[in-house]
Amino acid sequence: MEQPLPFALPDVGDAEIEAVTNAIRSGWVSTGPLTRQFEEKFAEALGNGLEAVAVSSATAGLHLALEAIGVGPGDEVLVPTWTFTATAEVVRYLGAEPVLIDVEHESLNVDLDQAAQRVSDRTKAIMPVHFAGRPVDYRKLADFAATNGLEVVEDAAHAFPASSATDRVGGGDSAATVFSFYATKTMTTGEGGMLVTRRPEVARRARTMRLHGISRDAFDRYRSTGSPWRYEVVAPGYKYNLTDPASAMGLVQLRRAESMRLRRESISARYTEAFTGLGLELPTEQADGKHAWHLYVVRCADEATRDCFISGLSARGVGTSVHFIPLHLQPYWRERGGYTPDDFLVASREFGRVVSLPIFSAMTDGQVERVIQAVQEVHGGLCPSE
Ligand SMILES: *Cc1c(COP(=O)(O)O)cnc(C)c1O
Repeated sequence: MEQPLPFALPDVGDAEIEAVTNAIRSGWVSTGPLTRQFEEKFAEALGNGLEAVAVSSATAGLHLALEAIGVGPGDEVLVPTWTFTATAEVVRYLGAEPVLIDVEHESLNVDLDQAAQRVSDRTKAIMPVHFAGRPVDYRKLADFAATNGLEVVEDAAHAFPASSATDRVGGGDSAATVFSFYATKTMTTGEGGMLVTRRPEVARRARTMRLHGISRDAFDRYRSTGSPWRYEVVAPGYKYNLTDPASAMGLVQLRRAESMRLRRESISARYTEAFTGLGLELPTEQADGKHAWHLYVVRCADEATRDCFISGLSARGVGTSVHFIPLHLQPYWRERGGYTPDDFLVASREFGRVVSLPIFSAMTDGQVERVIQAVQEVHGGLCPSE
């Protein structure tokens, strides 16, 4: 058999290796000038008037965002059940409760009609996830948040770069938007993330809490009076900073981000062309937007077909994954919220049907064709869909 094709691989090459090497040689191996530069370039890429705060992961960034808007014990935060556990766990870090919400069938993004029914007088915020890199409907989201007086913290771990017909993801007016640079995401620093906001007070608080609750403002004030060793601790903060070698890699990946997206977009188009008529439900995209195509999720007729499909592809050396096991089916969240599958009709049903196929920018045309051939052999052949 040929070498197995993994589900995902990072797209990094000589430019990243050289940038990281230079960063290490510079002597700044923790947070320094390259991290500042990465923040500036990242903010610039999303539009005017934004501030970007580099962090050690998207999980850290989501935690800092909720902390900065004052989420605390007794508060509730609306979170789609169709996400990774990080989105919900950060709510618990702060002693608040995530309230899980079902998703829409087509996009697998949060269902704002169900969310409206789950708003209580304790609800403080909503955390929409741009699933697979498909932006949520920003007009509906803004209406929903305004009507209910809620803050919005966007989990954009899948969505760099992406835009809806009206807004770039991260360029809007949410309290904060958080991107992930984990190894398998659309751009990577190994581990890392970026919090983006238009609100100076959110950026300031996130910068302080990112590094032990040490206030920069106080630090700079003392520095100007000639005591550079002096600093002020204003809160029990965290250790969530990004390092310069990671930022050096991020600066190269940021420059390549749109060309990597275009590669994923062309793989997606090729898949959709090849899979039409096979009896699989294929992913769609919004008109006039830019999908990040972090994931290409197909849906089989039912769970037996899906499981057969995954093993058939695996036997042919093609790696797949399932995004996501909905949170309401995970023991901790199920018991905490007292949820049953019937509380989330769409997510409970679609979980049995979904498969994520390899779609990373470093894939060769040959690898793309190999996935297509394996899918054609397995679906409807080995695994009948009736
Ligand atoms: C990957 C992911 C995260 C967490 O990102 P990290 O950078 O690994 O902390 C959060 N939410 C979603 C939807 C993700 O897929």
